[in-house]
Amino acid sequence: MRNLCVSKTFCDICGVCKAVVNMDDEGYIKFDCEWVRASALSFSGIAGINALRDKLYGLGLIGVHDDGVGFGNVSARAGGSNEFVISGSATGGLKKLSGEHYCRVVEFDFDKNWLRCVGPIRASSESLSHAAAYLSCADVNAVAHVHCLSLWKKLYGKVPTTSPDALYGTPEMARDIMRLVKKGDVRKGRVIVMGGHEEGILAFGKDVGEVEGVVLGLIDRV
Ligand SMILES: [Zn+2]
Repeated sequence: MRNLCVSKTFCDICGVCKAVVNMDDEGYIKFDCEWVRASALSFSGIAGINALRDKLYGLGLIGVHDDGVGFGNVSARAGGSNEFVISGSATGGLKKLSGEHYCRVVEFDFDKNWLRCVGPIRASSESLSHAAAYLSCADVNAVAHVHCLSLWKKLYGKVPTTSPDALYGTPEMARDIMRLVKKGDVRKGRVIVMGGHEEGILAFGKDVGEVEGVVLGLIDRV
């Protein structure tokens, strides 16, 4: 199985809430995750997104850096609402996930950099970027956030790219994603490079299968 990501760059935000808290020292708004503990989600509800996660993990697009910090996450819209199920914080390094590793984001507020999640695990600190995609495009039903330095460098500026000033875990990133998703070319290509989040790429689609196709199409471009 190929491992595409050769970067050992430290990702100081991905899936680790404490890192986002540290960003306060630099003047960024703290990510505020209101976590309502609940039992594990049923596997039938996460089977599709979990299968996609397995593939992305196998490709090295979700995983863990040498320093133990995980990266990458997947989500799927829950019904016709803007609620969504997402892999939990600090799960990037786990080879296999189950219902214990997913939660449901039931409410969010970009201005407050806040969300409420329900489940057995805290939502990824990258959840608001997923939320931005769901909120801005009704036919987006699945999102994958992957890391790959070579892909990121190759695609930077060639596909819709968020501002380098919009760092991950900030309302600015969420708003920039919304700005781009509302554009026609992004809806066609279904991919955004996260300019202020090195290695970070967001792929989305009308379903899990389309997201997988988008990511595999990107790999062919490396
Ligand atoms: Zn990330």
